[in-house]
Amino acid sequence: MSARVLVVDDVPPNVKLLEAKLTSEYFDVISATSGEEALEAIEKTPPDIVLLDVMMPGMDGFEVCRRIKSNPRTAHIPVVMVTALDHPKDRVTGLEAGADDFLTKPVHDIALFARVRSLVRLKMLMDELSMREATGQALGFEDDLRTEINEPVTGARILLIDDQERSAGRVAEALVDMGEVQIDAGEAGVADRAAANFFDLIIISMGLANADGLRVCSQIRSIEATRHVPILIIVDENNSRELIRGLEIGINDYLVRPIDRNELIARSRTQIRRKRYSDRLRHDMHVNLQRATTDALTGLYNRHFLSGHLATALEVGRRTGKSVSLMVLDIDYFKAVNDSHGHVVGDSVLKEFADRMARNVRGIDLAARFGGEEFVVLLPDTDLAAALAIAERLRRETEAAPFAAAGSGLKITVSIGVAESGPHAATPIDLIKAADEALYEAKRGGRNQVIAFNPMAEQRPAAGLGR
Ligand code: GH3
Ligand code: MG
Ligand code: MG
Repeated sequence: MSARVLVVDDVPPNVKLLEAKLTSEYFDVISATSGEEALEAIEKTPPDIVLLDVMMPGMDGFEVCRRIKSNPRTAHIPVVMVTALDHPKDRVTGLEAGADDFLTKPVHDIALFARVRSLVRLKMLMDELSMREATGQALGFEDDLRTEINEPVTGARILLIDDQERSAGRVAEALVDMGEVQIDAGEAGVADRAAANFFDLIIISMGLANADGLRVCSQIRSIEATRHVPILIIVDENNSRELIRGLEIGINDYLVRPIDRNELIARSRTQIRRKRYSDRLRHDMHVNLQRATTDALTGLYNRHFLSGHLATALEVGRRTGKSVSLMVLDIDYFKAVNDSHGHVVGDSVLKEFADRMARNVRGIDLAARFGGEEFVVLLPDTDLAAALAIAERLRRETEAAPFAAAGSGLKITVSIGVAESGPHAATPIDLIKAADEALYEAKRGGRNQVIAFNPMAEQRPAAGLGR
């Protein structure tokens, strides 16, 4: 992860020290020795994270932080306040100024890298998310998905695994504004209990009486349902071996006992936000995929998806020796619906027709809108006789009850052509063409009927296909 870190400190040796540590871990480091210089540097080349000394002559760290966080162009850049150990009040002021986390001087390596890594990860997720959402907007997706950066975390579900009632109570109390904290004493089956709920964060206290905390971490990491849930561990001071093992197993960050309330709040907030951003990225991807494969008006699959899927279904059919059937449905005299009731009513008829279709095909069948008022249902592992029965049911369902669209109710009928795969219809194009020919016969025969493709009666003039 080649992230750019801005180190701000008025004492040059402090800058040099952090610079050396971070460079050795392959971070790109830029530096500033005053608040003004820092703001200028951020404006010129925005960093991925800022390590900010509190005590500086002129503009102090809190003020710099406030300015970074109140500027919409820089508000998303994580800020770590570097505070003196004997000034615990600085953390409260830091949080109020919008700081994301804290480091105390002298800065220890494990703490430095844990903090920087966890916040840089958050920043990169945010960058990716806002980039994709900008692309989404450019492509005309109308949702406003702009990230609400630095909004307070609420409604989170937190699992706290701790068997010390008093300290567990204090942690729960500190996090009460962020959401609901469930406490679990860590007895057998704790990882499964964690997986049975949707948690945004799991905090695990090391030194449980009845469980090995690190083992619990590794179990939680290996269960699919909790693989992406952030883990914060609570360790005793001076147990850096346990901490290093934890970081290797994949915990996201840690807290040292005695727990500083502000650190607890800051770190929990960072992890919950990170979880939410990555969930959102996954969700966006899902939504985009759905947009690319479904028809916006009816919610059915679109022609593009059907075509791809049909090729696969025919291939599977060939391999397994099972037939694939396909029906093409076309609403009768649909132009007249538009002409006498308008396009809006036409649209809602299409929507209702699609709903009835979806309700009347089986789970394995794939219903798609092929274009206009023409629909296709792909029926895997289905012979012609079974497909005809399903088509007849759809035809009757359409005719049986008037459509709600035009208020008083509209009588709609549909014509359906059905074909089964075989030597005469082995490719997607041929199978669709066969069903389409049958549909033409249904239209010619008076509409509101189901006709099967007859391979024997081929060689009809191609003119019929155009419709
Ligand atoms: P037939 O019984 O022979 O199928 O007659 P038809 O009127 O249904 O067929 P035709 O192909 O002549 O007309 C189809 C009409 O469907 C014309 C077009 O305006 C309308 N149409 C296509 N797509 C949409 C749509 O998305 N919304 C609406 N409201 N109408 C559409
Ligand atoms: Mg029609
Ligand atoms: Mg048509």
